[in-house]
Amino acid sequence: MKTKIYFFIALFTAPLVLFANVMASHENDPPNRKFKVVLDAGHGGDDGGNSYGGVREKDVALKVTMALGKKLEAHADIEVIYTRKTDVFIPLWKRADIANKAQADLFVSIHCNAFKKESANGNETWVLGLRRSNENLDVVMKENSVILLEDDYEENYDGFDPNDPSSYATSVLTQEIYMEDSIDLAAMIQNNFASNVKRTNRGVKQNVFAVLRQSYMPSVLVEIGFLSNTSERNYLTSTNGEKAVTVSIYDGIIAYKQNRDINVSTISEGQKASSSSAVAIEPVSSKAVYKVQIAASSKALAPKPNNFKKLPLISREKEGDIYRYFTGETNSLEKASELRELAVNKGYKTAFIVIIENGTRRRL
Ligand SMILES: [Zn+2]
Repeated sequence: MKTKIYFFIALFTAPLVLFANVMASHENDPPNRKFKVVLDAGHGGDDGGNSYGGVREKDVALKVTMALGKKLEAHADIEVIYTRKTDVFIPLWKRADIANKAQADLFVSIHCNAFKKESANGNETWVLGLRRSNENLDVVMKENSVILLEDDYEENYDGFDPNDPSSYATSVLTQEIYMEDSIDLAAMIQNNFASNVKRTNRGVKQNVFAVLRQSYMPSVLVEIGFLSNTSERNYLTSTNGEKAVTVSIYDGIIAYKQNRDINVSTISEGQKASSSSAVAIEPVSSKAVYKVQIAASSKALAPKPNNFKKLPLISREKEGDIYRYFTGETNSLEKASELRELAVNKGYKTAFIVIIENGTRRRL
């Protein structure tokens, strides 16, 4: 009799445990978990970044970062983590590592631009991407070149050579899972720049920034303006300019967080309803199928197992400029969960299950 009871308990609790396991880590967090933002003031110490008219990038970046952090810290539900608060040198990999270890929700790196032509001006926000053009490569190689100041850079960056253009073609597909969220944040920041800063809006751009490449969360790199442009340099170092730039990034982060809070509360309500009965975790319609999303990328790869570490049944969907890649297609949650585990073990650390039902796809 006892065995039977245990059997039934196991029968009913197993799907719930399974369900809990497949929820992405942050969605399992207690409701009072703080929203963690890592603020990364570019450069520092021996690495001054660019420098014009006695104004150094590392100092401007730190000033904006500290002002931004202060505004964010005024929110009881936000925790701010700084990669540096003083004029010290921090390797790029270490910056991403700080964010990864903190399991941060966002990584925001702040920089100032420079160009050989003084006329270049305006602000832009970068997300990790694979599209490269020689024009973009100029900014990217400059921001990445600091790696060469580090002793073991070959080891810490998987042989990534900041001076070798072919390094920039390296696949970063796994990390690109955060790309959509990163683009959302970048777009919000750029919109705020357009309305508050009123300088040239250079838009959201993509390339392989080393500091973004190694962080496992939505991440952006903001170039607040050109120090090589005299009027922009004066603006960025003025009280008004610094304030407008800070408020723009701040408003972007808050808007991003509010969007995310809405999504998370929708998911946790769904989760509560599901947890109350084992039946509710079954798909609503018998025609629903589960797939495992393994990556999202601007890169169009053929949906073949060979391109995805031999995971089975690869499918691809295009939405705007982004391709989503899935493995599997099953109406069993258990099978989907096993497949997700397989994908995670093969290196797709952020793989998650999606339910496709009545022509719509949602994340489990
Ligand atoms: Zn920089």
